[in-house]
Amino acid sequence: MSVTKKLFVKTYGCQMNVYDSQRMQDVLAPLGYQPVDDAAGADMVILNTCHIREKAAEKVFSDLGRIRKHKKAKEANGTDKMIVAVAGCVAQAEGAELMRREPMVDMVFGPQTYHRLPEMVARANRAIGRDRIIDTDFPAEEKFDHLPQQVSRQGYSAFLAIQEGCDKFCTFCVVPYTRGAEYSRSGMDVVNEARQLVGKGTREITLLGQNVNAYHGEAPNGGEWTLGRLLRELSEIDGLDRIRYTTSHPRDVDDDLIAAHRDLPKLMPFLHLPVQAGSDRVLQAMNRKHDGAFYREIVAKLKDACPDLALSSDFIVGFPGESDKDFEDTMQMVRDITFIQAFSFKYSPRPGTPASAMELQVPEPVKTERIMRLQALLAEQQLEFNRNCLGKEMDVLLERYGKLEGQLVGKSPYMQPVHVSGLPESALGQIVRLKITEALPNSLGGELVDAPVQNRDSERKIA
Ligand code: SAM
Ligand code: SF4
Repeated sequence: MSVTKKLFVKTYGCQMNVYDSQRMQDVLAPLGYQPVDDAAGADMVILNTCHIREKAAEKVFSDLGRIRKHKKAKEANGTDKMIVAVAGCVAQAEGAELMRREPMVDMVFGPQTYHRLPEMVARANRAIGRDRIIDTDFPAEEKFDHLPQQVSRQGYSAFLAIQEGCDKFCTFCVVPYTRGAEYSRSGMDVVNEARQLVGKGTREITLLGQNVNAYHGEAPNGGEWTLGRLLRELSEIDGLDRIRYTTSHPRDVDDDLIAAHRDLPKLMPFLHLPVQAGSDRVLQAMNRKHDGAFYREIVAKLKDACPDLALSSDFIVGFPGESDKDFEDTMQMVRDITFIQAFSFKYSPRPGTPASAMELQVPEPVKTERIMRLQALLAEQQLEFNRNCLGKEMDVLLERYGKLEGQLVGKSPYMQPVHVSGLPESALGQIVRLKITEALPNSLGGELVDAPVQNRDSERKIA
């Protein structure tokens, strides 16, 4: 049994990074590394970074300033060592620059090489003086082949990466450069990981991919499984009660997937489907490969298959050349479709992407004014959806303690956090039926209607 060492991992950005951080811990556990909540005194610190917008990347450099002090304190006695590693998309995009700017960083590795952590750590521990490690290859296939077959216990709700990378090359986006080409894990790999998670107490799984519905994994008997087919296989797993997937591209919503939304009660009636903009001119300049009409058509087909489906989306405002009229088209799209949640961002020029070199960059004050208007409209729609839930019944998977004494918090089928008081701790991990008694902008409150239930069709409907 190896000596216990303290591992501090900080995760920035998307759910895929949350999943990757968890798997890094799985890779390091056999070497004796156990997760801790504080960088002070840790034997290894990993910052698992995000490069999607400028602000996300800048945050890493300010955090490194704080880590420097912890490393100095830890190594002051001349014998202890703190390995400082920068992982993820900033590492992939700016690895060499990072090493130059931050001499105390020992190790830089991208999103596709963390299965090699044991060798990297051994090298860092052997290093006399400075042997600094950079590993930013793109062997996605190799990574999934070499990660530990066993996953550690996750929460009642867990992430499972099924697809990585992206071949779409939207002109604003760094993902194809930082995560590499699209790659899908084999169907059985995914099913086995899902079974393991369920065996360890997970009841809800969110399948992850940068472009998750482009999934085309190897099928057990040859051929390929689409995402729709994979969802059918997963919904056969006993004890798995809820399935979600994110993030989807409108272009890759196929008939199989639409049918899955029609047929599978375990597939939750909530879909994050980024549109980015409502103007066809802007969508074309973004290289989104769809126009507004196509997005509306896909939404109509999905709602036809699953009438209670609710949508969320991503929006970018102030893309180069976006006129007042273009922005109005986005506002109109939101009014027409209605979203119950959304993420909206000011366009952030990313080095090396085509849009960063486009003319007619939109001035910052214009971006600010537009995003405020968009966010006000989106907030109004979210609050209205939440208020419409008042008095209705919903099945809620209770996942954690709330802020108040005796309060538990879970998720509705529509991803709304719902709090409830007066239930025993043993209700954690149960799906309970709640009557909604409180509607806030970002959450709901409820009261117990009857005893905990397993999965049932009624979960999908707000009664
Ligand atoms: N693959 C997904 C898709 O096709 O929409 C999303 C990937 S990205 C991790 C998440 C969101 O970040 C995008 O949907 C987009 O709205 C936003 N984003 C990406 N690049 C951006 C940029 N340069 N400036 C502002 N927002 C950006
Ligand atoms: Fe980025 Fe998504 Fe476009 Fe791929 S599809 S380039 S991940 S925004």
